[in-house]
Amino acid sequence: MPELPEVEIVRSGLERLLSGAAVAGIDLHRRDVRRPMPASLRTLSGPVRAVRRRAKYLCIDLDGGGILCHLGMTGSWRVAVDVRPHDHATVRLADGRRLVYNDPRRFGVLDRLRPDGGHPDLDGLGHEPLSDDFTGAALAACFADRRGPVKPALMDQGLVVGVGNIYAAESLFRAGIDPRTPAGSLRRPRLDRLAHCVREVLAEAIAAGGSSISDFRHAGGEEGWFQHAFRVYGRGGEPCLTCGTVLRGMALGGRATVWCPRCQRQRTR
Ligand SMILES: [Zn+2]
Repeated sequence: MPELPEVEIVRSGLERLLSGAAVAGIDLHRRDVRRPMPASLRTLSGPVRAVRRRAKYLCIDLDGGGILCHLGMTGSWRVAVDVRPHDHATVRLADGRRLVYNDPRRFGVLDRLRPDGGHPDLDGLGHEPLSDDFTGAALAACFADRRGPVKPALMDQGLVVGVGNIYAAESLFRAGIDPRTPAGSLRRPRLDRLAHCVREVLAEAIAAGGSSISDFRHAGGEEGWFQHAFRVYGRGGEPCLTCGTVLRGMALGGRATVWCPRCQRQRTR
């Protein structure tokens, strides 16, 4: 499943494709993806004003509304001349190009944005980790009442968006925090460090072209290579790359979790 870095890479690719472009019309090739696609999508047209990302949603802003897209597990966009199986929608551009959304497993979302660019799916989302207001202070406010472990809290979309299992594990390793640590027990210096490490890991993953696990590929089909930089994710039972200690693994909040019992601590000494 694409996580935030992969969605950001798709966003920047779409932004390049759609810069200065105008939408002539939208064709729907079937009725639904994860849920029905509104027929009102067909009536959208006009200049592309912006291509935004909020959490793992893509927003293509047009006058009077726009397109909301979530890639789900297997969604992708491509510039195409032909329609293939699993193509769900075609955005026809005024210059003759056709931008096609394909989603074999159909866990994605295609919907219409309100004229103000909003959508119910975007309400109630937490902090955007690549924004300037994502700080240790913001994490302290989010985690204040949380007695449960920090890793599921970091992955709670109502607190922080777009940090999935891979990037939560890697950020906690880099910050030296045991993923089982009660979120509300973390003090400011460690939360400052954690906010910094989340941003750093995500930025490095974007620069590396994302992580190619399961179905993620760029428009164009090439793989990202950040998966080769994982320090803990998927490495339970292997030696820590920093200290050589055998990495531990357990399920935490229902998700496989790996950490180094030496490099990552619940309390600082
Ligand atoms: Zn270690």
